[in-house]
Amino acid sequence: MQTLSQEAVTYFQEIVGAKNVRQSENDLEHMGKDWSTVPKDLNTAPQPAAILLPGSTDEVSKILSYCNTHNIKVVPSGGRTGLVGGAMAVNGEVVLSLQRMNKIITIDSIGMFAVVEAGVNTQVLQEAAEKRGVMFALDLGSAGSSLIGGNISTNAAGKKFIRNGGMRQQVLGLEVVLANGQVFDLKGSLRKDNTGYALEELFIGSEGTLGVVTKATVKLMTRPEKMTTMCCVTDTFDKVLRTLELCHLKSLKVNTFEFFSRTSYEAVKKLKNLKPLFDGNCYMLIVLEGSQDRIDAMVESMFSDGLASDGLIAQSLDDYLTIWTYRDMIVEAVGAYKCAKRTDVSLPIPAMGEFIGDMMQRFETRPPSIDIIAYGHVGDGNFHIDYISNETSDYKTILAMERTQHELVSEYGGSISAEHGIGLLKKPFLNLTRTEAEIDLMRSIKKLLDPIGILNPGKIFDM
Ligand SMILES: Cc1cc2nc3c(=O)[nH]c(=O)nc-3n(C[C@H](O)[C@H](O)[C@H](O)COP(=O)(O)OP(=O)(O)OC[C@H]3O[C@@H](n4cnc5c(N)ncnc54)[C@H](O)[C@@H]3O)c2cc1C
Repeated sequence: MQTLSQEAVTYFQEIVGAKNVRQSENDLEHMGKDWSTVPKDLNTAPQPAAILLPGSTDEVSKILSYCNTHNIKVVPSGGRTGLVGGAMAVNGEVVLSLQRMNKIITIDSIGMFAVVEAGVNTQVLQEAAEKRGVMFALDLGSAGSSLIGGNISTNAAGKKFIRNGGMRQQVLGLEVVLANGQVFDLKGSLRKDNTGYALEELFIGSEGTLGVVTKATVKLMTRPEKMTTMCCVTDTFDKVLRTLELCHLKSLKVNTFEFFSRTSYEAVKKLKNLKPLFDGNCYMLIVLEGSQDRIDAMVESMFSDGLASDGLIAQSLDDYLTIWTYRDMIVEAVGAYKCAKRTDVSLPIPAMGEFIGDMMQRFETRPPSIDIIAYGHVGDGNFHIDYISNETSDYKTILAMERTQHELVSEYGGSISAEHGIGLLKKPFLNLTRTEAEIDLMRSIKKLLDPIGILNPGKIFDM
């Protein structure tokens, strides 16, 4: 467990100001963890040595340079909405929170980009773009709390990936600070730049292990035409996939194609005391762009082909909110259980139905106290499969189920993380869908950029 000398604390206070070095028990507990749920006895309780809140790139650079010289381990931190323990400080690290660096520097609707500091909140950027009449395309359930630097470092995806891609597709340029304090300004707002390796790409999705993102230039887009939001229900997952196919065959622009199971629906209904929608096994939340005629034709086919048995097309803000609440509140509903394990896997889209059937069959004989909640961004081949129980003693069984699930994902040619990353919690499974040679190459890159290993140690892989 790392301890911090008084000399280091005094140095940090000189750099960022005394009030921006926090060491109260409350701050350490609150800012040393993220949204991941782990029962306390698993030795992953937050135990940072201090929280540092720099206000500029120069301050970040000075802090990292000092930490590198004195071998002080650092956990970069954004909105702490991560679900895999990436921003957790469990070994006396210093938490480097970017939350004070929250300026939107430019919104440019000619070049269609925004320049922002890493601590800008995702929703704040969405709203600023909207106000200018354009759109920042990343949209995720945690947008009200997550920060752009965290979105970049996790390569966040979200609800509109099927239409706009994830964070990687939104980033034009990055400013990053390496472990030794060196600042790199990579690519700026250039859309085209073929001058050797795209270095900025390395930092996207690297979970704070290679450098600290301090600034980003992200793409803006034109806003979509009229959108229609609907929620429909059907009895089998195969019909969910056939509905997705129908959207493609009807040449409709799919803005969002989400799925949630009956167990997800029931968990949210109970948590939020919501008005019921309709009964069924598989719920589809679909947002389509296009003319009313074409969407009407699609809905007609859906029902005449027997792909949906009931549904609601949002006609009012109230309908829209009801539909989205059922989807957006699933993460919170899962978190309400004493014992919960979240997973986010990626699969070849056509294989999703067979995979889930196969998996459920293997878990048929599980203890009755464990429930399985499946939902996710089906249009992108991304399932969230979460395990919930109110018996803490079920955690070991749940961990074993998680391993079985990931082994099956590997058999199906999938990935153990579609969008949340590896962090601390998925580290034991990384080698199921990445080869040892690939992990070794990642280690070499880490060694090159952070030779002493001060940045987010123990996350993604061990050295
Ligand atoms: C309700 C809810 C819904 C969610 N929905 C989605 C979803 O649809 N899609 C999705 O992809 N994710 C989703 N997530 C997960 C999470 O919100 C994303 O991973 C998000 O991008 C994390 O951003 P953050 O600012 O909270 O990062 P944090 O949790 O603070 O950090 C995440 C990782 O990035 C590193 N990091 C943070 N800031 C920096 C920086 N400036 N420089 C270098 N490293 C940094 C941290 O060390 C950590 O490893 C959801 C989470 C919740 C709670």
